Amino acid sequence: SVPLSFFGGIGGAGKCGILVKGGNYLEALAETETVVFDKTGTLTRGSFAVTAVHPDQLSESALLELAALAECYSDHPISRSLLAAYGRAPERSRIGQFEEIPGHGVRALIDGKTICAGNGKLMEQIGAQWRECHHVGTIVHVAVDGEYAGHIVISDEIKQDAAAAVKALKEQGIRTVMLTGDAQKVGEYVAAQLGIDEVHTELLPGDKVERVEALLAAKSPRGRLAFVGDGINDAPVLSRADIGIAMGGLGSDAAIEAADIVLMDDQPSKIATALRISRRTLRIVR
Ligand code: ADP
Ligand code: MG
Repeated sequence: SVPLSFFGGIGGAGKCGILVKGGNYLEALAETETVVFDKTGTLTRGSFAVTAVHPDQLSESALLELAALAECYSDHPISRSLLAAYGRAPERSRIGQFEEIPGHGVRALIDGKTICAGNGKLMEQIGAQWRECHHVGTIVHVAVDGEYAGHIVISDEIKQDAAAAVKALKEQGIRTVMLTGDAQKVGEYVAAQLGIDEVHTELLPGDKVERVEALLAAKSPRGRLAFVGDGINDAPVLSRADIGIAMGGLGSDAAIEAADIVLMDDQPSKIATALRISRRTLRIVR
């Protein structure tokens, strides 16, 4: 039977916008040793602004249009920012076959041409000659029929309460880790800004699962590992962690389904709040 005060704890968490799917997760939270964060959409807002368009061929507006059309069926926050910058409803009749390539980008047939939009890894995969560029932010490279066509710079922002969230966890003696599919430069910059203990970058969705498994194997037998993500490319990690915590607003339905705890307002500082509630609840129970 579930002690009554667990219901109190779950109710108290609920009043703070923290949805806990069962008393056992409150108990597990109190024993959290490591909190692993996803970056995009979790520690950063994930709603990027396009800050520059640099075509190699084509005009700026033609490059942005191709990227926006190619991304039109993607759920990735990058897709949303490109479509917002495009500012018009994409003409879906121009879009043929579409494929999302996790951790790389997208490939789509637009006006009969194959458009690839994504990171340097994707350009390497298709053999397009891309140039290293020195911008802070996420770079979306675009290739048309395998020929490099230019890149688009989009900037993301660290969430306002992310630093406070990491600090509060560290004060509670918890180790913090960040996993991201984004470039090393961007990932390390964000981790340093926030004071995260350990960071791993350029990870494919499968690499994230492997990293979490290694962290699970390395922790003490009683300690628990929580993973916090938005479900874009990390739903398998949400289910693999001892405690999966999803962003409720930005998060996908799959993330909310896979998670044990949902933060309704997407604020990372609510993790520290949840931990405090869980410890208080356990003190009452025991
Ligand atoms: P994170 O781990 O930070 O949440 P993801 O795993 O979702 O990031 O994506 C990793 C990287 O893959 C992105 O930084 C981007 O370079 C590239 N990428 C993924 N999806 C797309 C997309 N739809 N369009 C362009 N690039 C993408
Ligand atoms: Mg993500």
